[in-house]
Amino acid sequence: MPSPFKTRAAQALDDSDLRTSLTRASSRLQRWRNQAFDDLETPWADLQAAAAASRQAALDHLPELLQTLETRLLQRGAEVVWAEDGAAAFRYIAALATARGAERVLRGRSPLAEEIGLDAALAAAGVNVINTHFGDYIIRLAEDRSTHPHFPALHQRAADVADLFESKLDMPRTLDPQAMGGMARFRLRRELPRSEMMICQAALAAADSGTLALVSDSGEDRLAASVAQIQVILLGIEQVAATLEEVLFLTQMGSRSASGHGFPGAVTLLNGPVQPDNPDGPGELHLVIVDNGRSALLATPFRDVLACIGCGACHNVCPVNREIGGGAYGDHYRGPVGAVLGPLVGAMPSISRRGAQTAPSPVAAADIPLLDPAYADLPLASTLCGACADVCPVGIDLPEMLRSLREQRLAAKGEGPVDKALRAAFRWATQDPANYRRTHGWLRRELTGSVAPPLRAWQAGRDLPKPAAKLFRDRWAERTKP
Ligand code: SF4
Repeated sequence: MPSPFKTRAAQALDDSDLRTSLTRASSRLQRWRNQAFDDLETPWADLQAAAAASRQAALDHLPELLQTLETRLLQRGAEVVWAEDGAAAFRYIAALATARGAERVLRGRSPLAEEIGLDAALAAAGVNVINTHFGDYIIRLAEDRSTHPHFPALHQRAADVADLFESKLDMPRTLDPQAMGGMARFRLRRELPRSEMMICQAALAAADSGTLALVSDSGEDRLAASVAQIQVILLGIEQVAATLEEVLFLTQMGSRSASGHGFPGAVTLLNGPVQPDNPDGPGELHLVIVDNGRSALLATPFRDVLACIGCGACHNVCPVNREIGGGAYGDHYRGPVGAVLGPLVGAMPSISRRGAQTAPSPVAAADIPLLDPAYADLPLASTLCGACADVCPVGIDLPEMLRSLREQRLAAKGEGPVDKALRAAFRWATQDPANYRRTHGWLRRELTGSVAPPLRAWQAGRDLPKPAAKLFRDRWAERTKP
């Protein structure tokens, strides 16, 4: 039986409208990203190396940085909570909402809230969650799932949104994005004064000054954050940097990578609740630092994936993600980075503790607990072309991690008859030059003519380039002819 991922991917491949709109949107974002870095005087490689060094230094010193952050925030009257997993984060937030009598809470863009299923858990506890990001608002209205870290409704076509607004908001049908945005803003802004509590995610935190950076391209997120008196900020344990300068540098790198903008549309720097000598800020500030398997991941060869700053550039450039969209990957993890995180995070125990000083003992890839079965097939969603690593602003080698996860997946499930046959065929074709020429000739004929049944299922949904008219082998022979 095909896995849930393979079923969802096959459904996405059958939806040609979805594929067209995904490819268009991803290409546009990729073009803007390229332009944003081409316009700078500093070469891309230098910027990427500096950002990677900053993230590596943070991962090397996470316990100290998190404790400094906590100390600074406590000194200014914030509450700091360490949540081992999503359930612990939910318990704290739900208890806070109950204690403050908040029947409705605002929620800004937060991939971490999606990862821990916060909205559904709060709704089940009777708390009404109102999404303030335009993309999330559409998703909630459509009872759909977010598919991209920055643009959760990237897969939705304008015509679908127009139908949705007509049926759910009684809006006269229009394809004008300004008009639709205006309607969503109008509806959202009516909710803001009625909501005392806001949950959002810090993109990064600066340990030295105890500053939380809230970043969004949505004005509503920022407006809500400045109106709500009780602010709950979610932060993954890895989302910390040593200094505010590093936070601002990484924010710029993330923004250029995500949408081509030199700086995000809205950035709010929070370092505590309102003070007697400073009336700016929320009445209460609660920081919830979430582990959810991350500290265990730190001790594995996949540690570098925690350097991610969530820009989404790897999603936009990945030839697989561009065809099937983030929705095919599952509920919480999407794109190339999700294909690494998904199988691991759910399988790792949460071991971080407030005040933990020592790094966990190193764990070899093969000793990592069995991959989370819900996501074990995600590492297959890659051509291993390397495009994700090329555009990653913090230089994460995702292709190598995906390859390693594939090895683990195979080791966990064991080699079946098809795997054995393919391995034998590959060995036969590559161990002998004559066999290689025969196989190559057969593949060329298959790719230019009608495809034989064994390759038909594999080729569905893949657009392979036409083989070159002249073989490299022949061109090489001509060039080297005496
Ligand atoms: S892995 Fe790199 S490119 Fe992908 S979202 Fe994270 S930081 Fe961006």
